[in-house]
Amino acid sequence: MSAISLKGVELEYPNGTVGLRGVDLDVEDGEFVALVGPSGSGKTTLLRTIAGFLRPTAGTVRLGSQVVAGAGRSVPPEGRGLGMVFQQHAIWPHRSVGRNVSYPLEMAGVPRSDRSRKVADVLDMVGLSGYENRNPATLSGGQRQRVALARALASAPHALLLDEALSALDEPLRDRLRLELRTLTRAASLTVVHVTHDRAEALALADRVVVLDGGAIAQVGTPEELVSQPASTFVARFLSDANLVDGRVGDGCFDADEFPFRVDLTRLGPTTPGRGTLAVLPGDIDLTPATTDGAGIVMSSLFGRDSSDVIVTQHGKDFRCSVRGIRPAVGDRVSLAVRRALFYPAPSEVDGERPTDMSCADALKVSG
Ligand code: ADP
Repeated sequence: MSAISLKGVELEYPNGTVGLRGVDLDVEDGEFVALVGPSGSGKTTLLRTIAGFLRPTAGTVRLGSQVVAGAGRSVPPEGRGLGMVFQQHAIWPHRSVGRNVSYPLEMAGVPRSDRSRKVADVLDMVGLSGYENRNPATLSGGQRQRVALARALASAPHALLLDEALSALDEPLRDRLRLELRTLTRAASLTVVHVTHDRAEALALADRVVVLDGGAIAQVGTPEELVSQPASTFVARFLSDANLVDGRVGDGCFDADEFPFRVDLTRLGPTTPGRGTLAVLPGDIDLTPATTDGAGIVMSSLFGRDSSDVIVTQHGKDFRCSVRGIRPAVGDRVSLAVRRALFYPAPSEVDGERPTDMSCADALKVSG
């Protein structure tokens, strides 16, 4: 049985805005799931629906075997046994760290002696052992966020819901807390749903990532699956900054509609002839120096630790390339070669429109 299970969840706000549409999602016990998507895609709405602050218009939400929303039932947030941490650490400034952390235990009527032991345990888990009597005002932002995390953990929640919980922190602290959070949740086998606008953070932390688009799930998968096999051009673009090119797959190659751009089909894997969109990930383009007219021109070139982020314009189209090794300079002429690409047939093609046959002479290269 899944720790969290949503079936056919729809949510419409009172003003008619659609927050969620047809969401089916199972989060397994001990799994760390990240929710990502552009601003307004429904991440917060989905998290708040699981938490119980929002009531779905249709569908059901289960926590373990218990239906907490749906079928005329709605269990309030405090009855769901979930821990929550928000971006703005909602800790009380006038209470000591210990009192902050023990508050949910006091509310649950846990005896004082048990409370202090549990508080000490969770403070130890978040690396704040012995901080019970500290005034929160004397703590750093990162330490206050650890207090919020300790409080969420104190009542041994069934699952932890994190709403941009690390986003207010500066690097490199954020990086460190990210690692610690993952180590801690793994050691405690905690089920976590983590909302973040940070794609790299989602891919780095999560067992599975859920990509939302317009309130619906665009794809769910492991970070590896989402990066190597994005289900749509939207996912390829959103997660990996894929370059999208409309065109047609013919006999042996893909040709762009609007400018000379040709990719051999051996670079595409199994595909069907017809119209569609090619997605080329920035790391799948090789740049080599060129002198010919019609070659690409480097428009920007930003240094990166692992690879440089280079924009090349060719025939009026910008290509984003991730370049390892020597970084090209702005103004350099380069030719582009596509190592691997993914082809997404247009919806009408999937229904069986007849493709046009084409021949492919100079494959692999983007024609100059
Ligand atoms: P995200 O967290 O991905 O940025 P949200 O879940 O906040 O997205 O929003 C999803 C959609 O619901 C957006 O169109 C947003 O404008 C809308 N929305 C969010 N909160 C409300 C609200 N209280 N009333 C009406 N519409 C809302």
